[in-house]
Amino acid sequence: DIAMYRAKALGGGRKGIFEAGMHTRAMELFRLENELRRAIEREEFTAHYQPIVSLKTGLISGFEALVRWRHPERGLIRPDEFVPVAEETGLIVPLELSVVREACASLVSWQREFPQHRPLTMSVNLSRNQLARPELPEQVERILLETGLDARSLRLEVTESAIMENVGSAAATLSRLRDMNIRVHIDDFGMGYSSLSVLHQLPIDALKVDRSFVGRMDGANDDVEIVQTIITLAHNLGLDVVAEGVEREEHLDRLRRLGCDYAQGFLFSEPLDAAGARRLLSAYRRW
Ligand code: C2E
Ligand code: MG
Ligand code: MG
Ligand code: MG
Repeated sequence: DIAMYRAKALGGGRKGIFEAGMHTRAMELFRLENELRRAIEREEFTAHYQPIVSLKTGLISGFEALVRWRHPERGLIRPDEFVPVAEETGLIVPLELSVVREACASLVSWQREFPQHRPLTMSVNLSRNQLARPELPEQVERILLETGLDARSLRLEVTESAIMENVGSAAATLSRLRDMNIRVHIDDFGMGYSSLSVLHQLPIDALKVDRSFVGRMDGANDDVEIVQTIITLAHNLGLDVVAEGVEREEHLDRLRRLGCDYAQGFLFSEPLDAAGARRLLSAYRRW
């Protein structure tokens, strides 16, 4: 909560130590927190969309929604600059729900406009904060009702480390989402520390191989074997595999040969605003 975050940001104070650098940093965080609060009220957050390609068909199977802050003075700001503070202050909760709503609404309109692409999916990132919130499933349910999106089109991405922080409550929340027919994807897989025995008990549908492994996949490197191992593991557990950070044709060829199910990365497209995503769909390109 916010009071605790401030105490943490001002951590030195607790021990009676107060360094100049720490003070500056605390003031900066405090300012960012207030700015974030105002930005939520003014609806300055928006979603950009990066396509996810089915390696079976070569067609776009869906998009991942990635939040952007349209700052009135600083322009478009990427999540790395504000998501950590939004998580610490709890402001991530309303921010993310607004991303879920916007992304679901976009997908409904694209599904209507491009029925030949059916069934398009939408993936949205959820932070660790959401996994301990028992009201999350009802809030998502309400968004689905309001936007008219079929739950089966929605994927929620959570990282390994967010789940492992409190496996019990995370698994309970994820189970309830899956009972609603929403799919759960593990993001940045390979960067965390989940043991295989935990993994196979989690209520999940797919693993997203972290882009650091995909990017290092070249002939001279063990990372091909790592990706191969993740794909085999996932398939043995009945899970799909999405490779992220696919930047080169060689990556795509290799992933196809390894039997990877889906791929995402700059090779296909960088994240686009809604108009750009719409244009991409209308091109009906096959990779
Ligand atoms: P992520 O969920 O792993 O998202 C993929 C990130 O990789 C995106 O960065 C995307 O632009 C970038 N990317 C995609 N393809 C490539 C590629 O081929 N090469 C390289 N080098 N990068 C690629 P972005 O949009 O800056 O997002 C960064 C992270 O911020 C995301 O990583 C996600 O963890 C977080 N994020 C974004 N939106 C949200 C949100 O609504 N909630 C939360 N909690 N986190 C979010
Ligand atoms: Mg993600
Ligand atoms: Mg990812
Ligand atoms: Mg990643």
